[in-house]
Amino acid sequence: MSSISLSALITLLILAKWAAQVWLERLNARYVRARAGAVPDAFKGVVDEATYAKSARYTLAKGRLDQIEVTYNTAVLLLVLFTGVLPWGFSAFNRGLGASAWAMAVFLLVTALVLSLPDLPLNWYDQFRLEERFGFNTTTQRLWWLDRCKGLVLASGLGYPLLVLVLKLVEWTGAWWWLWAWAALLGFQLLMVVLAPVLILPLFNKFTPLPEGSLRQRLLKLADQTRFRARSIQVMDGSKRSRHSNAFFTGFGGFRKIVLFDTLIQQLAEPELAAVLAHEIGHCKQKHIPKTLAASALGSLAGLYLVSLLAQQAWFYRAFGFAPGSIVPALLLFGLLSGVVTFWFSPLAHWWSRRHEYQADAFAAQVMQEPASLIGALRKLNEKNLSNLTPHPLYSGFYYSHPTLLEREQALAGA
Ligand SMILES: [Zn+2]
Repeated sequence: MSSISLSALITLLILAKWAAQVWLERLNARYVRARAGAVPDAFKGVVDEATYAKSARYTLAKGRLDQIEVTYNTAVLLLVLFTGVLPWGFSAFNRGLGASAWAMAVFLLVTALVLSLPDLPLNWYDQFRLEERFGFNTTTQRLWWLDRCKGLVLASGLGYPLLVLVLKLVEWTGAWWWLWAWAALLGFQLLMVVLAPVLILPLFNKFTPLPEGSLRQRLLKLADQTRFRARSIQVMDGSKRSRHSNAFFTGFGGFRKIVLFDTLIQQLAEPELAAVLAHEIGHCKQKHIPKTLAASALGSLAGLYLVSLLAQQAWFYRAFGFAPGSIVPALLLFGLLSGVVTFWFSPLAHWWSRRHEYQADAFAAQVMQEPASLIGALRKLNEKNLSNLTPHPLYSGFYYSHPTLLEREQALAGA
């Protein structure tokens, strides 16, 4: 393939993704607007007129911001790829620091950092204007910037040694480097699953055991009944940043942990919280984390193999203004461009995730011996978070990791 036709193809792929994203946002907005006038029959008695109208406004505002963000990011990506700034930075780095793995890892990290900067203004606007307007924001400016600094230190501290290791493996292991790099990445990922809940999450939030009382007793009883180690039920101070509420399950084996946001505990009644815990225990019992990890490991194996192939193609380098030879531009370009391909596979991943949600819901209904508590919890969660109750089916099919409220209620009623 010639360099020019490759540049044209890549540009086409980038624009196709942009067009699909904007089209989906507009499709969804039209669908929501058409139903915004009155509460649809399916939600009468579930959500009041004012909350429903507000959730439609919130959905539309988020959709508009998403369109701006998608368009802006696409323009930035095209500029970065085709103005020659990347090869210029790369050779400047090579001249200044040499081409050792240690220097090249700095180059990749610095480039990633610089490329994340254009996102900052829109992220800031989202938190302090949009979320604020709908009453969700509780983050202070200080906390927001502190979070970003901590993220930066963490990404550098963890990313740098990992990048050096991958680049060294390329030097040491020759043609099979991608398999070795994959093994190293997988080891790192597994280590993170174990360490993140213990070492990283506490850098951002406070985790406390559930306080004594009737709620704790009820949840302990449920944990006992399902043979879940209750020590790992914790409360997180989510209210420090946002009024959005949530619960999640993380880690595996002896390191698993179920986390309930303090905002969730304020919003739900005790049986509803028990149902949410049962749902999370369901994820654990059905081994959803190891399954998801295995799937993502297969994806990264395919990705690294692809990098190893691209790194041998001179035309691939020339299309973006690089001289063939070093693996570093291939890694960088792959990092920038993999999204234009994986985007089209994301509905598959989301479909799989929704299947897991249905399974965890069914487990919860079975443990609770009734679906009503879980339905009550889901209704409140959707209401308090101003979730879009009427997404366009194509939109939710493409993007949603969780089924909609109506889909979950119907599945629970049928169970
Ligand atoms: Zn879930």
